[in-house]
Amino acid sequence: MTSVTVKTGKPYEVRIGAGLLQEAPAVLRALLPAKRLMVVSDDNVFPLYGEALVKALTEAGFMTSSYVMESGEQSKNLTVYGDLLGKLCEAGLTRDDSVIALGGGVVGDLAGFAAATYQRGISYVQMPTSLLAAVDSSVGGKTAVDLPGGKNQVGAFCQPALVLCDIDTLKTLPELEYRNGCAEIIKYGMLLGEPLFTRLSEKPVKEMYEEIIGSCVAVKRDYVEADEFDRGLRMLLNLGHTAGHGVELLSGFTVPHGQGVAIGMAIIARAAHAMGYCDETVPKRLIKLLNMYGLPTETEFTADELTAAVANDKKNTATSMRIVYPEAVGSCKVLSVSKETFHEWLKAGGLL
Ligand code: MG
Repeated sequence: MTSVTVKTGKPYEVRIGAGLLQEAPAVLRALLPAKRLMVVSDDNVFPLYGEALVKALTEAGFMTSSYVMESGEQSKNLTVYGDLLGKLCEAGLTRDDSVIALGGGVVGDLAGFAAATYQRGISYVQMPTSLLAAVDSSVGGKTAVDLPGGKNQVGAFCQPALVLCDIDTLKTLPELEYRNGCAEIIKYGMLLGEPLFTRLSEKPVKEMYEEIIGSCVAVKRDYVEADEFDRGLRMLLNLGHTAGHGVELLSGFTVPHGQGVAIGMAIIARAAHAMGYCDETVPKRLIKLLNMYGLPTETEFTADELTAAVANDKKNTATSMRIVYPEAVGSCKVLSVSKETFHEWLKAGGLL
């Protein structure tokens, strides 16, 4: 088992390893004062792991209820959120009790936000079952739901009490989900550099989950500890995300997040080289690694279309847009630019 401690306002442990779901009842018993638990999951994950978890938690003495939402981003809305709050109330959870988020990013974000706001905040535990959630959304305390006007428009910073990542659950991941997770992992490789970056090209991620997730979580921990509320340094975690999110939006979300991030990183790395911010080996090495994991590095959308889409993104203030770019593998920087300069970067990154 690999353990990473995140020292935020309220410190917590991230455990990564095989068989952690089986150990969960004893671990939660020792950690939480809770009498009641609500296991929140989706209809893909709950039949696989949720039923057994509820049974085991009940046997360990917790009064355990469950809430199962439809899988997919469309569930991350105020209606499902309100419905879950109602169920927490009905099940009689008090401020000593806890929510267990068992699933991918959607489940974690929504369950976390419900926990952050129910009775002004109760504790919650993240049990990520997707690679994306394991390396990214389950750590760092960003919880949210979407509004019709955009993703994650309502939310709260609320760190979990514990993150349990059972790598056995990743074995059932569909190939596309696996690749999406690998795009974020390659992003951590760009931020940290060696040895992670080279490690990713030596052996497939799926053959070394514990080691790689541990490395990514340690990188994320450093950024989150330095900037818990996402006012500065943590923005570097958005490498590839600004342009990538634009591609996701323009595709009507038929391009999944990981692919968007892959395309976004490739555009920005090509542009950074073209604009003289890094040497040619940076985009070359990045694109080679992305291709190795079957990830896309090009888009048909034009610089005009992408600039317009990104200008409406919540991460960009009215007057300036942010570009996170690599100056080397292992060193990234943030640049605040005008809409016009952003457009130039996209052109330099190979867009029409
Ligand atoms: Mg992301």
